[in-house]
Amino acid sequence: MMPPTLYVCPFCPLHCDDVALEQPSGGNWMAKVQCGKAITAYAHALGDSQSARIADAAVATSLASEKAKAMFAGKDIIHVATAGTDLDTARRLNQLQNKNRIRVAIDDTVSAAAWRAAISREGTLSATLGDVRMHADVVWTIGDVENETPRWREQIAAETKQWINSQSLAAEPLAELFQTLRSNANGYDSDEPIAASIGSANYLAIILGRNAFVESEATATAEMLSKMLWYLNKTSRAIVLQWDTAATNRAVTAWQTNAPIDSVTQDSQAEIHIRLGSPSEGAKAATLQIGGIDRGPQFAELYLPAATLGIDREGVTIRGDGTVTLPLAAARPSADATPIERLEQILA
Ligand code: SF4
Repeated sequence: MMPPTLYVCPFCPLHCDDVALEQPSGGNWMAKVQCGKAITAYAHALGDSQSARIADAAVATSLASEKAKAMFAGKDIIHVATAGTDLDTARRLNQLQNKNRIRVAIDDTVSAAAWRAAISREGTLSATLGDVRMHADVVWTIGDVENETPRWREQIAAETKQWINSQSLAAEPLAELFQTLRSNANGYDSDEPIAASIGSANYLAIILGRNAFVESEATATAEMLSKMLWYLNKTSRAIVLQWDTAATNRAVTAWQTNAPIDSVTQDSQAEIHIRLGSPSEGAKAATLQIGGIDRGPQFAELYLPAATLGIDREGVTIRGDGTVTLPLAAARPSADATPIERLEQILA
């Protein structure tokens, strides 16, 4: 029997490359992979496509598309948000931005944006997935790593490492931890397990998940963590890995414009006119959503279905640690328009 074709999963920044697809006799195509997030996302993308929607009513795609065209006709600059795209879409978004048709911002969280800002000021101590897998002896996850990147343990061989975990960090507890590390360099009380693990690590890998920092204190906490990292690196190795769903867009924008891409958190008052792809939990509502999972009128007044890269169409993506370029094969090719094609049609 032929081994099954394996695909790169497009649904989180880990981009695992071992997804098989199968179709039980007479049933729907489904993903064969040990990941609940991927199984749900593949089932959605491989199932009957979602209907276009205006407010609460399902409508023909052509009708929703015409409505969207009319809504955005004559608008100076259209604000487009996305959690991340493939390479070709990222290039085309940049071209539209360079022509002043749109302004692109990444659908970031306050916490993730705060870390990016901190490392841009303090310098970076980051690492790749391979570095963490190979060298780390202690892994400290902060925030929700589990739901964001469900197979992270497998990818870094976590069973060979000591693992400690914290929920969202606030500035004060982190300052106390930092103080403990500075004052107890020669030993820790048994009621300081996190400090003891960090203090004894030869290579500490900190993995930041969703909401790693308490939102109202994110800037101060991120700066404190950055300072703590520099302190730890005086005597051992300590790095931070923050998975980035928009690694491709950041890379393309940096290559083409030598400038960082905006984040939706930079201007909380700015409207999001169009979102490409699914909104994440707590995302701000958009006027129009193109592609991804339709989560209803509270997330977008209009919804236009679109092809999924890595399912309906082939593409290329950069893994969320910014290192590896991966092919997204067209697992079940279809002629549906992609999100960027629909956006270009609306702006034409
Ligand atoms: S961990 Fe992420 S990339 Fe890997 S299979 Fe699950 S959703 Fe896909």
